Amino acid sequence: IDFFEDAKSIMIKNIPNKVLNLLRLLGTYGDDNKTPVYVVGGFVRDLFLGIKNFDIDLVVEGNGIEFARYASKQLGVKMVEHEKFLTASLFFKDGFRIDIATARTEYYDKPAELPKVDVSTIKKDLYRRDFTINAMAIKLNSGEFGTLYDFFGSRKDLENKIIRVLHKLSFIEDPTRIIRAVRFEQRFDFKIEDETLEILKETLEGNYLEKVTGQRIRQELEKIIKEKDPVKGIKRLAELKILMHIFPKTYFTTTMEKKLKNMLVSFDLLKNIYTKRNIFYAFLRILLEFYDMESLKNVEERYGIPKKFVDELKKTERRLIPVIEMIKTRIKFSDIYKVIGKPIFETATHIMAYLDDNNSREYFKKYLERVFSTKLNIKGNILKDKFNIKSSPEIGKIMNSIFCYKLDNPNINEMEKLKELLGGTIE
Ligand code: ATP
Repeated sequence: IDFFEDAKSIMIKNIPNKVLNLLRLLGTYGDDNKTPVYVVGGFVRDLFLGIKNFDIDLVVEGNGIEFARYASKQLGVKMVEHEKFLTASLFFKDGFRIDIATARTEYYDKPAELPKVDVSTIKKDLYRRDFTINAMAIKLNSGEFGTLYDFFGSRKDLENKIIRVLHKLSFIEDPTRIIRAVRFEQRFDFKIEDETLEILKETLEGNYLEKVTGQRIRQELEKIIKEKDPVKGIKRLAELKILMHIFPKTYFTTTMEKKLKNMLVSFDLLKNIYTKRNIFYAFLRILLEFYDMESLKNVEERYGIPKKFVDELKKTERRLIPVIEMIKTRIKFSDIYKVIGKPIFETATHIMAYLDDNNSREYFKKYLERVFSTKLNIKGNILKDKFNIKSSPEIGKIMNSIFCYKLDNPNINEMEKLKELLGGTIE
């Protein structure tokens, strides 16, 4: 049958030897357990696209958990089981990971007979997947190692650069596929096929996305943001009117696009300054900017956004215009410090989103570097002991003004400055 094809040569060509040997080994474990085992999904897709992919998803016809236990013992690697879903994952020391699932569509020839498992099992498993390009399998058992199972024209769609659902109810079955369609379209520069696009739009208009938990929507959105060109993805979500079903009060404009692009540049610019960073929340700063409190509350609850995010967003919104102005006019660091202090990553990138020219970006970057590297050598108790200042608020104030002075003049002698400031002599 022409559903099957030999993929061995392309596997040998595109898969590193180490991974290829592992796949062969996994195939022999299938033999030992008398169960067919396949590598499926993204790995197979990327094999044909010539893209490196080391996320191995296996489907086992039979008992996936038993297979996983056997494989983990043979390979001497860690395993985590999910009994309920009949899945398991193997974790290698070097971070490599294999997910194992059970194909679960046994059918009964006659009632009370043992379930029969045959080729239709893997076919049904593949049929449940999101898009044709993700619905191929390659058999790993020794006799058939490298046989491609392509029941739904996946290779053809890959060649024609098309995202196509496997059946008409696909988006209703799982509306998060609407977001996934955009992600794959953008990542590979493919096109959503016409009929698929029609169904996508109908499903949107039927408000099916609203029926999905915020958690699942958020997960898919985060994946879009992790793609190489997230702005392109967000723009496409807006174009297809998907974005308004996710964030009802967000209007994607060219200004917003510009801000998102500026922000993207800033991630790279600030990569050595911040270790704690949340790119998703950074983008949300722009997508949810100037929301009224009630709409923000709704979004916050639906997507599990922390209150701290909302507080920081509102606080930044209020300071935005003065701060931008200060940066553009190259006001001294201590004045900027009085308005924004030491901003968290998401606030810094929020401000960067408003900076179009490189010199302003560099100036603000210098500010951040300075603010995070400036440390006072003198301690507060010097003020107590040597200058006889006992009130803590007053000590705080003096320390702060020395800190501000040092922001503008990194090479000051702190002690000299202190004397000058207090106009006194020591001891
Ligand atoms: P990536 O390269 O981003 O990891 P992927 O295709 O591996 O892409 P995953 O989200 O890891 O994407 O999903 C793994 C596989 O599981 C997919 O190839 C797809 O076949 C299937 N899959 C994932 N999510 C869905 C879904 N919502 N509906 C149907 N099939 C899905």
